[in-house]
Amino acid sequence: MRRVEGRPDVGGGWIGMGHTVRVVAGGTLLFALVHSVLATNWMKRRVEAIFGLRVRDGLYRFLYNNITYASIGALVLAARGLPDRVVYRVPRPWSWLLRAGQELQLYISPVNWKPDNPPAPMSSPASLSADLYERLGAYRTLGWAEATWPLNEDRIDEQAFMDDLFRAFDDRAQVILQRLDAKQWDLLVGVIESTDRVQHMMWRLIDPAHPMYDKALAAKFGDSIARVYGKCDDFIGEVMSRVDPGTPILIVSDHGFHSFRQSVNLNTWLVQEGFMAIQGQQPGDKKLQDLFGGGTFWENVDWTRTKAYAMGLGQIYINLKGREGRGIVSSGAESKQVQDDLAARLLTMKDPNTGARIVDAVYKADDVYSGEFVKNAAELQVGMADGYRVSWQSTLGGSPPGIVYPNMKKWSGDHGSYDYRQTSGVLISSRQLAGDTFDIMDIAPTVLKYFGVPIPSDIDGKPVF
Ligand SMILES: [Zn+2]
Repeated sequence: MRRVEGRPDVGGGWIGMGHTVRVVAGGTLLFALVHSVLATNWMKRRVEAIFGLRVRDGLYRFLYNNITYASIGALVLAARGLPDRVVYRVPRPWSWLLRAGQELQLYISPVNWKPDNPPAPMSSPASLSADLYERLGAYRTLGWAEATWPLNEDRIDEQAFMDDLFRAFDDRAQVILQRLDAKQWDLLVGVIESTDRVQHMMWRLIDPAHPMYDKALAAKFGDSIARVYGKCDDFIGEVMSRVDPGTPILIVSDHGFHSFRQSVNLNTWLVQEGFMAIQGQQPGDKKLQDLFGGGTFWENVDWTRTKAYAMGLGQIYINLKGREGRGIVSSGAESKQVQDDLAARLLTMKDPNTGARIVDAVYKADDVYSGEFVKNAAELQVGMADGYRVSWQSTLGGSPPGIVYPNMKKWSGDHGSYDYRQTSGVLISSRQLAGDTFDIMDIAPTVLKYFGVPIPSDIDGKPVF
């Protein structure tokens, strides 16, 4: 092989075959072509026409795979005549595939590994992925399991989103229950995240004041959030029926939710208030992909006249000398002065259309954080009022025209940038709790204490029982 993209050093072989396979070599581009033609609906309809019946997905995939493999087989047989053949140690049936020699180059990502026989461990213990696969079939692993962005971009509808979300929920729940049954644990942490995703996407249908409220859709999908919580409740029942009565159960959510009715361009406001200066043309909208290379940021900011900038969800950084590439504000008294001025101004921010207050609170890093990395933290954290979230463009440092504008996307509920005091999560415990106010940071010391492990002196939080 001339070039393998990715990680050729894992396990001593490559297995799997899927949509991420990239065939780079000239003659074998045919493979990619075969693969993509087979994957089309057109091909599906041809298969239906030939077989004279409605092809169910499972059957189609079976045919599709076999036609693909047959095509690859023919292709590889043709390629075997090439010089410099390299035989890679891979499990069947892939061994013949990779014998094609230097003209065939593949990139196969771990997403294509079969969990019951991966070339490198996918889990710890290594048998876990196989156990789960045996019991559940293919399951979702790391990453964002719900199709929030496809719905936000109108590529799927509410029904498809909810069907998929319930599937994701069930997959995850089954993984957790499988682990419970396996009994190979002292502490088991299971994370259900569907509650978060459904609220991001469906809040508009429980909030008639949201610009994206739709009466007809609300009649159909207005109970989506409640349904997910109902499923959580059933799931907790399942968990409780499977553990010994004395086993402590903690149900912890890390945040609450708000309606995201209006978007707020924080950087534009900083320009308007004289804390930030821009020059020249307004650049185009930033995209999330810009973060992953290729994108340019802040191209119209005049740093020689900028005292503060906003980035992320309500974080405002002082343009500090020494820390920032073109900092102009000295740390110490000058920075403190800018922070005080800015915090006071932020609290006066009003919605120009309704006069409503936009910012509930402003927190200074020096007051709320401690430790050796505080110097890298944003100097101010803005706590937005209910209904107002920092705009997507502000999160990436952009400063498009206008301060407040209606959120016309289906991503309609959020927690990022809202005042944390109005965005509490919940803590439910099967054991009596000590005290009356609790913090997400209390969970780690609680677990350490329960297992008799000394709590490090620099850990935040306190045991809840
Ligand atoms: Zn979230």
